[in-house]
Amino acid sequence: MGDPRVVVVGGVAAGMSAASQARRRQPRGQVVVFERGPRISYGACGMPYNIEDPSRDIEDLVVLTPEKAREERGIELHLRHEAVSLDSERRVLRVRNLDDNKEREEKFDALVIATGARAIKLPLPGFTLPGIEVLRDLDDGASIKTALVEHQPKRAVIVGAGYIGLEMAHVLTERGLEVTVLERLPQILPGWHQSTVARVEEVLETRGVAVHVHTTVQGAQAGTNGRVARVMTDGGAFDADLVLVAAGVRPNVELAARAGLRIGDSGAIWVNQNQQTSLEGVWAAGDCAEAYHRVLRRNAWIPLGTTANKQGRIAGANAVGATQRFRGIVGTAGFLVFDLELARTGLGEEQARTEGFEPVSVTIRQRSRAHGYPGGVPVQVTLVADGPSGIVLGAELVGTEGAALRSDIVATSLASHCTVEDLQNLDLVYAPPFAPVWDPILVAANQLSKKVRRPA
Ligand code: FAD
Repeated sequence: MGDPRVVVVGGVAAGMSAASQARRRQPRGQVVVFERGPRISYGACGMPYNIEDPSRDIEDLVVLTPEKAREERGIELHLRHEAVSLDSERRVLRVRNLDDNKEREEKFDALVIATGARAIKLPLPGFTLPGIEVLRDLDDGASIKTALVEHQPKRAVIVGAGYIGLEMAHVLTERGLEVTVLERLPQILPGWHQSTVARVEEVLETRGVAVHVHTTVQGAQAGTNGRVARVMTDGGAFDADLVLVAAGVRPNVELAARAGLRIGDSGAIWVNQNQQTSLEGVWAAGDCAEAYHRVLRRNAWIPLGTTANKQGRIAGANAVGATQRFRGIVGTAGFLVFDLELARTGLGEEQARTEGFEPVSVTIRQRSRAHGYPGGVPVQVTLVADGPSGIVLGAELVGTEGAALRSDIVATSLASHCTVEDLQNLDLVYAPPFAPVWDPILVAANQLSKKVRRPA
């Protein structure tokens, strides 16, 4: 038997990682990608920062052009082709060419589903008006950038105060707009610790961003120019000539679900740690799929680019015969709101309790650099552990310097199920320009050690 024909659906982070890996491992085999959009391989994560800078072209975020994918990587790439159904018994994928609407069947030996996720749109009156945007793919980013130039909006309403909503509150304020953030839950950054949230609220207030929590959007109205002019909520109306809906994402699982693949409890495609789906010869990776969570010791759905790239590589390798295992995620994520770095990893205290742990936590502030060295700022660390076992469960960090990347220390500890005592004893950098002799992480661990049950 010759090399398997590998077919990949979706051509961004997970899909192109899978295709490139499969191709590298079987240079003479056929690797075919179907992507319904007009591009492949772009860094969606960079969109907020690109939108902030009017001089940058949104296309700068494209990492690999279709030409390079074809010529240099030898991948057979079909843009504007949508996979519409999957016949698992005949091992055939039905694809539609979106330019002429014609459908055809494509045989595969191995299939990688990397269909990603889509932004949630609000099915509310007026929410199809021009000027109401989401931010998910590069076309969305381009549309917002164009609107900022062509329509010169003055007031923006952002619906949703998760990380994308807050990154964009920063970006649109920097672009000169008056920004209001609406969140239906009782706090911004739902699920984050109150002490972290308080720091973010402080910064938003200082920068003039209005925040309304406990506020549910009910609809939108147009102005005389036919574009959005007002957002209605249960707490009154807000004028807006640009609205960004940042209300979360949903996994694109329809193709998989229709073919009878198992969908996990999270609503994303179930996979094992080899990225294999419930169907022999079909792999899934990225935002459409679940990922094994090392702290929870079960699958979870936390759609992030770093996971999509890793899972994609593994799916691509395994599709051509390897037996690689994805070690798992711990839910590490970071972002910037004005000059405030934020990061979290593992579980927050509330989530830990819901998951059946008996969490204890501390929140401390320690300088980012040694005492007496110029320029240090306080880094706030909230560290969570399981009281009875002393095992570290998670952390949140916030500060204007040295916060985001310090979360990687805790992320690494979570991967090996370290205890608070293990964390206290880590040999971290001490050098005045970078860290005090007691690094913020060590100070937090020292404080938390007083709350966990000690071994006899
Ligand atoms: P996607 O990027 O969603 O790509 C899936 C592709 O599949 C799409 O192009 C879609 O058109 C195609 N497709 C879907 N169905 C079909 C079909 N039936 N047929 C053919 N093609 C199909 N992550 C981080 O880790 N760090 C960050 O800082 C970060 N910041 C972000 C900021 C923003 C504004 C956004 C939007 C995302 C951010 N992310 C971040 C998340 C990250 O971008 C995603 O996790 C990543 O893009 C997922 O890659 P993917 O390949 O799984 O899915």
